[in-house]
Amino acid sequence: MALALYRKYRPATFAEVVGQEHVTTPLVNAVDGGRINHAYLFSGPRGCGKTSSARILARSLNCEQGPTSTPCGTCASCVALAPDGPGSLDVIEIDAASHGGVDDARDLRERAFFAPVSSRYKVYIVDEAHMVTTQGFNALLKVVEEPPEFLVFVFATTEPDKVLPTIRSRTHHYPFRLVPPTTLRGLLEKTCAAEGVQVEPTVFPLVVRAGGGSVRDSLSILDQLLAGAGPEGVTYASAVGLLGVTDDALLDEAIDALAATDAPGVFRAVDRVVEAGHDPRRFATDLLDRLRDLIVLDAVPDAGGNGLLDCPPDRLDLMVQQARALGSATLSRLADTVHAGLTDMRGTTAPRLLLELVCARMLLPAPDDAGTGALQRLERLERRLAIGGVPEAGAGPAAVAAAPVREPARPEPPRAEPARPEPARPGPAREVPAAAERGSAARREYVRPSQRGAQPAPGAVPPAAPAAAPAAAAAPAAAPAPAPAPAAADDWPETAQPGAGPSRPAPAPAAAAASDDWPETAQPGSAPRVRRPHRPPRGPARAWSAGSPTSRCHPSRPTTRTGRTRPSPRPRARPRPGSPSRGRRPHPRVPRPSPRPPRAAASRPRWCPPTRPAPGEPARAG
Ligand SMILES: [Zn+2]
Repeated sequence: MALALYRKYRPATFAEVVGQEHVTTPLVNAVDGGRINHAYLFSGPRGCGKTSSARILARSLNCEQGPTSTPCGTCASCVALAPDGPGSLDVIEIDAASHGGVDDARDLRERAFFAPVSSRYKVYIVDEAHMVTTQGFNALLKVVEEPPEFLVFVFATTEPDKVLPTIRSRTHHYPFRLVPPTTLRGLLEKTCAAEGVQVEPTVFPLVVRAGGGSVRDSLSILDQLLAGAGPEGVTYASAVGLLGVTDDALLDEAIDALAATDAPGVFRAVDRVVEAGHDPRRFATDLLDRLRDLIVLDAVPDAGGNGLLDCPPDRLDLMVQQARALGSATLSRLADTVHAGLTDMRGTTAPRLLLELVCARMLLPAPDDAGTGALQRLERLERRLAIGGVPEAGAGPAAVAAAPVREPARPEPPRAEPARPEPARPGPAREVPAAAERGSAARREYVRPSQRGAQPAPGAVPPAAPAAAPAAAAAPAAAPAPAPAPAAADDWPETAQPGAGPSRPAPAPAAAAASDDWPETAQPGSAPRVRRPHRPPRGPARAWSAGSPTSRCHPSRPTTRTGRTRPSPRPRARPRPGSPSRGRRPHPRVPRPSPRPPRAAASRPRWCPPTRPAPGEPARAG
């Protein structure tokens, strides 16, 4: 079985660690200077050399030539700790992902105090240190803080924030980083040369991009490509097929069609992408990458030579042409559109549909109000003028005329204009009236609920005023005749007819009317009275006292009225021919706005109809 490339070419000294000079240089200086700390924390993304560096550190510390950054490689310790060596009893690697519990930490703590078997230092390499539990870290705290002379801890983690702060503060923290593409490419080329396999130069950018800056990932991908290589080596076609990236030819086709505003060409390219079995999302991602390259190329003409762009020299000319054909504003807007589309495509069930929509959006300039669309159209206009060859004199108007013809055909300008005014106009216009309305409405609303019975607003004013006024006016008027009182309290009209109303004196009805309903507040004597509590008790009491047969219909209410001697003032219900209330009806009392009347009117009529006939007869009879 072949050894994986990333294991086969694992660095054996700090000098061989690629792309982490900001970390290895200080470590080398520390080891060479004899300033060795008892605990280190190596953090960084996966596959960028943390564990390898920890092993190199252990090897450097234990080399028989003394702690040195350049292990001799020949002594027993160096041989044992070589990347392909058998390992040493004194260098213990712990995978915290599976041994991060407190028991493991206690076990480690107890063994840590035993002196190294054959080496100068006993080195604990705790991998995935963020997986150690809090209790585990706490168990280690003491030994990490004050370890024996011969003990060195190296914590390696991808998430240093999860390492207990008390542990982190006792370590020297070295942050590793992703490896830059150019460095990675150099490493890949060197590896391929060492392996003796022919690889097309166009393959390396694919591998670098797929590796995402991780050395181990990149080497794994290269390993796979090398493993499947035929006698001709690794070709671009085989790499594209294996990695699932979009063929450059497809991207070129799409870009050229976009530059020419060739809608059929764009959709044909999409169709070919899907027909070839590519993932539309992947195509969009690669298209975005290509647009990025073109944007960089547009801004930095020599980007191909200074490492900003990782593309083979033979493609550079083509890409320069594409960047020129599209222009800065167009490129920027296309990239924005694709990026937004990629976000939308996340998790969608119809990626092809979304990809086609994105393409349609790219072909249609300026549906957005961000100004990029206008810039794009302006750019196109300028280019057309420049291509026309006569920028100002004769072709000026012609070109302008031609351009407008095209532009107006598209609905954007009108859209954009109305869109702006709309929000602007209504904003202020609505605001003013809205505020006014709000104020008035708020006033009305607040007045009504709070002052229902006392001070009604517009609608309620008439009733309230009358209520008070009539009460006072009714009192005098009622003195001579009982009619006014009933008019005021027109709720309970019917039962009053029996004749009790007229028979009673003026004061009685006035008081009754006041206490019974609403005028109470106006009446001095009745004001203190509470309306609701009175009613229920009053009804039955009177019913019994009056002894009128009306009680059979409704024990409480009807009798009450009879006792009160209030003639039926109710205008709508049924004017009684003989009742004095009739003449009084037009009295201001009549209007009853507040919520009570409806309730009374609604409930009483039900009860009353039966009551009236029955009580009338017995009353008269009695
Ligand atoms: Zn050595």
